[in-house]
Amino acid sequence: TELEAKVHSATAELAEQNEKLRRQALQLEQASAAKSQFLANMSHEFRTPLNAILGYTNMLLQGVSGEMTPQQKRNLQRIDSNGHHLLQVINEILDITRIEAGRMPLNLSDFEVPELLQEVVAELDPIVARTQLEVGTELSPQLPALHTDRQKVKQIVLNLLSNALKFTHEGSVQVIADYQVATSTVSISVKDSGIGIAPEHQEKIFEDFQQVDSSPTRAYGGTGLGLSICRRLAAMMGGRVTVQSTLGEGSTFTLHLPRRTRRT
Ligand code: ADP
Repeated sequence: TELEAKVHSATAELAEQNEKLRRQALQLEQASAAKSQFLANMSHEFRTPLNAILGYTNMLLQGVSGEMTPQQKRNLQRIDSNGHHLLQVINEILDITRIEAGRMPLNLSDFEVPELLQEVVAELDPIVARTQLEVGTELSPQLPALHTDRQKVKQIVLNLLSNALKFTHEGSVQVIADYQVATSTVSISVKDSGIGIAPEHQEKIFEDFQQVDSSPTRAYGGTGLGLSICRRLAAMMGGRVTVQSTLGEGSTFTLHLPRRTRRT
């Protein structure tokens, strides 16, 4: 009948469109994989010569080629600090491409949060020592052990705490760990009394290369990739990173993690 014929041709058309979409999705996937592979290779190829440059710069700074004038030394220090900045950008791009390409595996284990936080704070001790800041921790007695990727949690908290120290000139930085029983969520917050972030920047700073101040004359170092990596790492563990901030008063960045990360 006429109706059957119509249904038949509509079905055929749908199947054809479906096939077209499937091919397009495959092409996109291949293009994206090629992009990630290119970026990963490029970052790797950049790292080797850059490490040589930094090695020789360091040798010269140590004075192995004799005394330098103050001007020469200042110039060499600029080469050194720009080289380190470049190395950080390259390493962070490598991290992002690994995550995007699905080549950053999840290593799940059981671990206690207080120990991890102690480790993070100890690693940043030399930086804290150069400031006037008080760094404290507040741990809920109900904190359960986490079953997730310890290294990734550590990387995220290190990043949040480094930022807090960088953007705080006086007062204190608190690391607060809590447990929300209803949602089985552990939260690790880094609360600072620093420069704060205006509402219009609070979402943006989680995007790649976004900084509140990215002018060449900006007062703070950094690449603008740290928070975008934190957000990606948290997502891999089924968690997220949020921010609450008041300009001029301070910021609180919080990592929310399910107590147990399940393998997907
Ligand atoms: P980076 O610190 O390398 O610039 P991030 O992605 O870690 O990159 O942070 C992006 C931007 O977010 C920073 O440049 C800064 O403008 C803002 N920011 C992050 N943490 C804080 C903080 N604790 N206080 C104020 N601003 C912050």
